[in-house]
Amino acid sequence: LAESYLTRLRLTEPHLNSFLHISDTVLREAQELDQKIKGNEEIGPLAGVLVGVKDNICTKDMPSTGGSRILESYRPPFDATAVKRVKQLGGIVVGKTNLDEFGMGSTTEGSAFKVTANPWDISRVPGGSSGGSAAAVSARQCVVSLGSDTGGSVRQPASFCGVVGLKPTYGRVSRYGLMAYASSLDVIGCFGSTVADTGILLHAIAGHDRFDATTSKQDVPNYLSHFVPASSLETKPLKGLRIGLIRETLDEGVDPGVISAIRAAASHFEELGCSVNEVSLPSFSFGLPAYYILASSESSSNLSRYDGVRYGNQASTDRLNYLYGDSRAKGFGSEVKMRILMGTYALSAGYYDAYYKRAQQVRTIIRNSFKEALNENDILISPAAPSPAYKIGEKKHDPLAMYAGDIMTVNVNLAGLPALVLPCGFVEGGPAGLPVGLQMIGAAFGEGELLRVGHIFE
Ligand code: GLN
Repeated sequence: LAESYLTRLRLTEPHLNSFLHISDTVLREAQELDQKIKGNEEIGPLAGVLVGVKDNICTKDMPSTGGSRILESYRPPFDATAVKRVKQLGGIVVGKTNLDEFGMGSTTEGSAFKVTANPWDISRVPGGSSGGSAAAVSARQCVVSLGSDTGGSVRQPASFCGVVGLKPTYGRVSRYGLMAYASSLDVIGCFGSTVADTGILLHAIAGHDRFDATTSKQDVPNYLSHFVPASSLETKPLKGLRIGLIRETLDEGVDPGVISAIRAAASHFEELGCSVNEVSLPSFSFGLPAYYILASSESSSNLSRYDGVRYGNQASTDRLNYLYGDSRAKGFGSEVKMRILMGTYALSAGYYDAYYKRAQQVRTIIRNSFKEALNENDILISPAAPSPAYKIGEKKHDPLAMYAGDIMTVNVNLAGLPALVLPCGFVEGGPAGLPVGLQMIGAAFGEGELLRVGHIFE
């Protein structure tokens, strides 16, 4: 299994650039597992499964750059909890995947090192910021992968690359070893080519961790226990399930092909026995500005740790008072600098009330409106992105156009809810069409229900 994936990786990687680093111990680790099997030793449920890991998630003895020059030479002395758990269950880390610097971006063009291509059309972006992890699963360079989702960075690239992406509830998965972008929104998420694969990976990494005080102590259910084989499904396997289609996500500005794929998905839910009703979230459009104020504010504080002294690259200067400035000026890319400036501005004394405080109030309103909508509906659905994958370079110099593409996903992070994205159709474009992703949003800690419903839908 490892060999076949590595062969495919070698053939496809020159066209895709999904990885920043590829492990040279994969075959050795796989052989060790073979020995264990021969010796009748126990192997874990992920034994021999090749896992890609986004490069803002720390891995021992492997580079972890966060896609940033400032960490170009950084090799963490420890594994992130999610990575540790994957390894304990027999998973093999195949390499570190490309990303927008520190997770800030929606195309993976913001990496300091390379541009990743979308496997469906290599002239297009894979989405971001976890573009490398999504492209790697889409092209079957690995079986599953880990990403991070602060405002959509798992779900939007899953949609662009035609794979399954899961953003867990805030606090379901430990952030220990994840490079902090916006700590109140960040969560590690999973990519797979099927809902079941994605659920297996979530099961491996979920749960309380004493190294992350924001992880929940709530039990991790066996996410796959409700899965039924397709052959034994009744004709209306989702009878009684209430689906709410978020009206504001099908407005003008959304690609007509995306709207019809989502409407077709809604009809498919009806065929499966669900009731589908349109619901309105009037505060929906306030999510984007609130998100960008909060995420930038938190990042301006989180990124102050990169001072050229404690981690990574240090500018060569003999003047101590230039050390911080030079290291950061050379180490950070332009998008990161812009976010730090925006965040520092929003948090500064004269503007705090007008921006940061106001954005927090909006966040509460959004959280409450989701709560209400989820009282009347079991699952809310929307597109995962307003368009399919666009061309490399198309939005590179227009950050506002890029930010606008996050409209479907950021609200879910503000509310801390889980969401599953899965392919639901195609629109014209590229050599073989471009995939469209359906987003299913559930109640807090409702990952099991999302996976069950997603598996039947799929
Ligand atoms: N595109 C969004 C941003 O740039 C989301 C990023 C993410 O989820 N890491 O902030």
